[in-house]
Formats: sequence, structure tokens, C-alpha cells
Amino acid sequence: MLNKTIRFYNGVEIPVIGLGTWQTPDDIAARVVKEGIEVGYLHIDTAAAYKNEHGVGEGIKLSGVDRSKIFITSKIPAEIKTYRGAKKSIEKSLELLGVDYIDLIIIHCPVPWIMYHEGIKGFFKQNVRVYKALEEAYEAGKLRAIGVSNFAIHDIQNIMDHCKVKPMINQIPWFIGHRNEELKKFCQDNQILVESYSPLGTGRILKNPEINKMAEKYHVTPAQLCIRFALQDVDITLPKTTHKDRMIENAKVDFEISPEDFEILKNIK
Ligand code: NAP
Repeated sequence: MLNKTIRFYNGVEIPVIGLGTWQTPDDIAARVVKEGIEVGYLHIDTAAAYKNEHGVGEGIKLSGVDRSKIFITSKIPAEIKTYRGAKKSIEKSLELLGVDYIDLIIIHCPVPWIMYHEGIKGFFKQNVRVYKALEEAYEAGKLRAIGVSNFAIHDIQNIMDHCKVKPMINQIPWFIGHRNEELKKFCQDNQILVESYSPLGTGRILKNPEINKMAEKYHVTPAQLCIRFALQDVDITLPKTTHKDRMIENAKVDFEISPEDFEILKNIK
């Protein structure tokens, strides 16, 4: 499963399972990423805001696997909403990761986090400026793909209306009990891949009795069921763990949830 990829509309391939690194501290990120690559992960998801890009870059080097074989995603912090700030952020990510290109950079959030959590919309002009910095880096060959995260339909439409390069991906929260059909359809209609983050609900949904019951039926763990669910529902998913045994477990999702059981899982609140 870790070798399976999907293509952006520009032809670049992205592995459908990536190793998440939010809340993986910089001082253990090198060990975690090295182990992840050892067990076969070819896709690592980091962000400037995670403050672990240095460790992630070290882990890739320590793995001994050629950098070109690994798909790296990073993000421009939600709080950076200027062209100059975005340019600097891209350069800093390249420097900290210790690479001369990054596979994908996305805008972490359409509005600064504090406002996002209050449901505040806006920053349309600012997001266009941030995205222009991404477009320039893409055209200069520093990035192989560009996109967005946590963007609603109106946020994506704004970028499509005012920028040249359509976003290639939208990374959004997507797990059993947390889905957004309308946004998924909009992305699919516009050839924008949908990437599920927090497939385990940041660990919260693993104790859900209905999920546990269904996992037993398939002879898989609750984590495997959740990851498989995300993969059957959208294009890509990013389970996070710092434990090697869980990295192995989370990648063994080569089974099929039946349409009937998928409907049951879809309706879990
Ligand atoms: P997640 O992958 O949904 O869940 C991670 C949690 O589950 C951790 O506490 C982990 O603990 C535990 N876990 C992992 N595998 C397990 C297993 N097999 N059995 C039991 N527990 C297990 O969490 P997430 O970090 O929220 O999301 C995943 C990734 O998506 C992030 O790391 C990040 O890369 C990305 N993300 C992006 C955004 C965004 O705004 N763009 C937001 C959130 C997340 P241990 O680490 O101790 O194993």
C-alpha cells in the first residue's frame, strides 16, 4: 500500500499514505522519519508550524534512501498572509529540510488559526498574495506541486478566480464522523485531490465502540479500519505515529470495506 500513488492534474505522483508529523517534536523527528522510511513510507507530511522540518530532513538523510524517492509536503503557516512572508517561509522550509526542492507546499489555513476556530472568514486578497509566492516557487522548479489546506469552497474559488495555477490538493480533516461531501465534490469536479488529515481523529475515535465492533468483523485494528475508511472515501491520508510498530500496522490496509459497512461507518456521528 505504501507504494501506491495517485497523480495530481500536472502528472506528479503522490503516495496515497503519508506519515503525519504534527506533534512529533523536532528532537525525535529524525528517528521517527528514518524508521518510517525503513518500514516503507515514501511520503512525509510536515509544516513550518510543526517546528520539526530540520528533524524531518535529517531523518530522510539518515534513511539512506535517495531524496528523490521521498515525497515531502510542508506548509506555509496560517498566520503568514503576505507575499514576502510566504516567500521567506518557502525558503526557510527548503533550508531547514536541507533539500533543493519540496514536492508540495500548501497554505496551512485560509485564516490565522485563532480566527479559524472562531469561524471567521476572509483573507481573500491575502491568500491570493501568499499563493502567488507558491506559484513563483512552482514555476522556478523549487516545488513540484502546490495547494491548500482547510480551504472551504469559497476559499478555493477565490484562488481559482485570481491565480494562474489551480490548487492541486486540499488537505482537510477527514475521518469517521467528520466528512464534507459538498467540499469533496467541488474538489473532484475541479481535479483537486482530497487529502484526509487526522484519519484517527487525532486518536480520539479509536475507542468508539461501533468502530471497534466493525474492526473485529474485518479482523483488523480500529486504526487500520479508520485509515482504510479514509482511503476508500478520499484520495490520500496521513496517519501520524511516533511508534515503529504502529507505522507498520497503519500501512497494512490492503482490505476492502463493503459498500454496506462503508455506509454504516459514514453515518457514525
Ligand atoms: P491521527 O493520525 O488522526 O492520530 C494520531 C494519534 O493516534 C496519535 O496520538 C498516535 O499516537 C495515535 N496512533 C497512531 N497510530 C495508532 C495505532 N495504530 N494504534 C493506536 N494509536 C495510534 O492524528 P493527527 O496528527 O491529527 O493527523 C495526522 C497528520 O495529519 C498530522 O500528523 C499532520 O501531518 C496532518 N494534519 C494536518 C493538519 C492541517 O491543518 N493541515 C491538521 C492536523 C493534522 P502515537 O504517535 O503515540 O503512536
